[in-house]
Order: sequence, then C-alpha cells, then structure tokens
Amino acid sequence: YDDRDGFIWMDGNLVEWRNAKVHVLTHALHYASSVFEGERAYGGRIFRSVEHSERLLASGMAMDIPIPYTVDEIEEAKAVTMRANNLSDAYVRVLCWRGAGPDMGVASARNPIRMAVATWEWGAYYGDAKMKGAKLDVSKWKRPSPETIPCHAKASGLYMICTMSKHAAEAKGCSDSLMMDYRGYVAEATGANVFFVKDGKVHTPTPDCFLNGLTRQTVIELLGKRGIEVVERHIEPGELEGFEQCWLTGTAAEVTPVGEIGPWNFEVGQLARDIAQDYERTVRGNH
Ligand code: PMP
Repeated sequence: YDDRDGFIWMDGNLVEWRNAKVHVLTHALHYASSVFEGERAYGGRIFRSVEHSERLLASGMAMDIPIPYTVDEIEEAKAVTMRANNLSDAYVRVLCWRGAGPDMGVASARNPIRMAVATWEWGAYYGDAKMKGAKLDVSKWKRPSPETIPCHAKASGLYMICTMSKHAAEAKGCSDSLMMDYRGYVAEATGANVFFVKDGKVHTPTPDCFLNGLTRQTVIELLGKRGIEVVERHIEPGELEGFEQCWLTGTAAEVTPVGEIGPWNFEVGQLARDIAQDYERTVRGNH
C-alpha cells in the first residue's frame, strides 16, 4: 500500500506517496502521542472542513500536543493535497504526531511536532451493509471515563481498544462492534456513533465520554428538519431489545443502517433510509 503513485503533504511540502516515511524512533509510534482527523470530500469539497481542522487543534490541545499550524494553514494543506492527487470524492486523513528527536522517554518536549495530510478514494466503509444493515458484535472493552483520558479527543491512543474490538468482531463475521462506556451504558461503535428508533422517536447516547461526531451533529439537525424528536440520554444495553431501527453515523461510515447487534435484530426501516438520503444530499450541497 505504501508503494504507489500520489502525493502526501508532510510538514509543509508535498512528497511522493512512496517517500512519505518516518523514523522507527518516532515518539508517537512508541507512546501513541498523536491525534488525527478523518474527513470526506464530495465533488472536490470537504464536508465541514473547517470544523474538522478546529477539532484537530482541540484534540491536540486536549492531548498536550501543541500543533504548530493554524486552521487556515491546515485548510490550505488539505486543499493542496486534494489538488495534487486530483481527487473529487475522497477520504482525507490529517495526522499530527510527536516525531523522533532527543527525547526517547515518555516526555518528548524537545521532539518536533509533525503533520501529514493524505487523501485517497475510500468507498462504503461497511461495504454491502450500507444497504442491507450491518451486523455488530458487542465489545468486551469499555470506553474509558473522562478521568482516565481526554475522551472527546480524536487521539490515536483511544483507538487501541477500538482495533481490538473490531478484530474480535470481524473474527465472528461482524463488521463492527458496539462498545459500552465505563458505566455500562451504550456508547458507540469503534469508529462511528449510534442511533436507535422506537415509536417514532430517535434515541442516541449522550456524548459525555466519547466523540460527538460531526456526522452525528449533522444527522441530529436533519432529524430536526424532519420534525422528528431526538432524545439524547443514557441508554442501557437491556433496552436494545425494544428498539425497532438502528444506524451508525461517521465520516467514513456516513449513515449505515444496522441489522443486528449481538442477539438483537433491527429492521432497515424507512427512517434509516430517509436520513441516509438526507445526509447524502447534504454532503453534496443540495439538501
Ligand atoms: N466515534 C469514533 C470513535 C470515531 O472514530 C468517529 C469517526 N471520526 C466517530 C465517532 C464519528 O465522528 P465523525 O462523524 O466526526 O466522523
């Protein structure tokens, strides 16, 4: 995957894809001192681009990784990368990390903070599930408490439990895993937020210990425009039995209906389809 044509922006310059390398003593590789963004461009325009850049800076602040770029500079880096790769519908990954330097212990104040922007074509995150309804496992790993880590940051270290959960799910033939939080409430999937439908109302977990996704926020607005009540609250796992529909939201996942979570089944219903369509129109700028 690293040996291909294309360009990646690194620390202010475009470098050839196959030369976009770091040293093995990169601090982030040892201690997960990195934060990132995942964004999607539609027709050449990144959806909510500035908000993603702002979130990157906020993640850096939260994780004590002072990013040496402004929002405008990050926006420019993304635009340059998109143009260099001549992509229209694409995924955009911005990564900031503590690099190699004199500090190889836990502290790394003297090492440079680096940034890269890569972009590539990435189709439906859950493949066929986009239409049929994804099958989810239930993870044994819990989302950590806000006293354990800045849990609203999009920080690489937070994804260790997500990768383990997702691998366990895939080994069972599932496409993702639903994670509970440290209190046992329903939290989110490994890279997407979750919504449920019951009796014409939508229920979604309060984002008090996980990422309040931009897609989640967009979908809540879209539900409001349809006049549908959205209840943000703590959801017990036992309630899953009573929900009629379920879907996931995320930049990569977009709006993906869920058909199964562990022993519980959901219909791929009209509201899930309608919201997926509203979202598609919105990101393409014609809602
Ligand atoms: N939760 C996690 C853990 C994620 O990785 C993502 C994807 N960034 C989301 C939620 C959804 O966030 P967004 O809608 O901003 O992409």
